[in-house]
Amino acid sequence: MSSILVTGAAGFIGAHVARALALRGHRVTACDNFNAYYDPALKQARVQQLLWPAGVNVSHVDLTDPALTQRLVDASGAEVVLHLAAQAGVRMSVDRPLDYVQANLLGFGSVLEASRRAGIAHLLYASSSSVYGHREGEGEHGAKPFAETDRIDRPASFYAATKMANEAMAYATARVHGLPMTALRFFTVYGPWGRPDMACWLFAERIREGLPIRVFGKGQLVRDYTYVADTVEAVCRLIERGAPPPDAQGVPVETFNVGHSVPTTVNELVAGLEAAIGRTALIEHAPMQAGDVPHTESDPTRLRAAIGVWPRTSLAQGLAEFASWLAWWQQRGDGADAAMLQMPRPLPLA
Ligand code: NAD
Repeated sequence: MSSILVTGAAGFIGAHVARALALRGHRVTACDNFNAYYDPALKQARVQQLLWPAGVNVSHVDLTDPALTQRLVDASGAEVVLHLAAQAGVRMSVDRPLDYVQANLLGFGSVLEASRRAGIAHLLYASSSSVYGHREGEGEHGAKPFAETDRIDRPASFYAATKMANEAMAYATARVHGLPMTALRFFTVYGPWGRPDMACWLFAERIREGLPIRVFGKGQLVRDYTYVADTVEAVCRLIERGAPPPDAQGVPVETFNVGHSVPTTVNELVAGLEAAIGRTALIEHAPMQAGDVPHTESDPTRLRAAIGVWPRTSLAQGLAEFASWLAWWQQRGDGADAAMLQMPRPLPLA
C-alpha cells in the first residue's frame, strides 16, 4: 500500500479517486482550493459524502503558492502524487486564458518542483483528450481513434494548450531530475457528483425541468463519454502498477489514454438521457463553439496492455446512474445536510 497525495480532491474525478484509493487501503492526503468555477457547495458536499466516510480529509491549499505546496508535499509523507487540480473547461478558456495560466501552468509547476525536491517516487497527472486538437480533414465521418503516439501540437483551445504544456513540463522534469511521470489523457468523464458545466449535466438538468437544451451544430460532435467509476478503476490500477521505467532515451515517462473507446454523438447522448430520465428533450440548435473539436475517441490499446481489461459501464447504465443521482441532488432542497445523510442508494464506488 502506498502513501498518496491527491490534488483537486474536492473536484469531480479527484473526489471519486481519492475515495477509491482510501477504500483500497492506501494512505491518502488530499487538497483543493475550492475555487468558484462552479458551485463550491458541490465540492464541499463531495468531501462530506465521498471523502469523510472513507477517512480522507481535504486541506484547503492553493497550489499556485509554491511555498505552501512544498509544505503540503513534505508534510504528506507521500511516495506518489496524483495531480488532478486544474482549471478545467474548454469554453471558459476562450475568454479567460490567464486563469488557465495560473492554475495549470503555475499550479502544475509548483507541484513538479515540490515533488522533485521531496523525492516523490511517481507523479501521475491529468492531461486531456483535448491535446489531440483539431485534425485536418476530420469531420462527421471517418475519424480515427487517437493513439498516444499521434501528434499533439495543434491545440484548438487555450485549455488544450495548457495541457500540452503540462506534458512538456513533466517530460523536462523527468529528463532533468529523473522523477517518473505518468500522463493521464482523460476523455469526457460523466457520472454522479459530476461537473455542472459539462454537457451531460447541463442537458439532464434541463430535460428534467422540461426546458430546451442547446445543441451545437447538428449534434454530430463525437465524444468518448467515460463513466467515472471506469476512469477511477483505470487510475487506481495505473498507480498500483508502479512508476514507469526509463524509456529508450533514459527518461521515465509514459502517457495513457483513459477513455471508454466508444465514439458517441451528442444526439446519441441526448437520446440516452431521454431514456434515463423518461422525458423527451426540447432541442434548440446553436452555432458551433470556438475551441470545440469535432471528434474525440480513445485508442485503448496501450492502456489495456498496461492494466488489463476490466468490465466497463455502458452509456445506458452510466446515464441511468447519473440521472438518478441528479434527481436526488436536485431534490435535496434547503435541508441539504439532512437530505444528504439519507442518500437513497449506495454510492457508486462503495
Ligand atoms: P474539477 O474542476 O471538478 O476538479 C478540479 C479541482 O481542482 C477543483 O475542485 C478545483 O477547486 C481544484 N483546483 C483548481 N485550481 C486549484 C489550485 N490552484 N489549487 C488547488 N486546487 C485547485 O474537474 P474534474 O472534471 O474533476 O477534472 C480533474 C482533472 O482532469 C483536471 O485536470 C481536468 O482538466 C482533467 N480532465 C477532466 C476531464 C473530464 O471530463 N472531467 C477530461 C479531461 C481532463
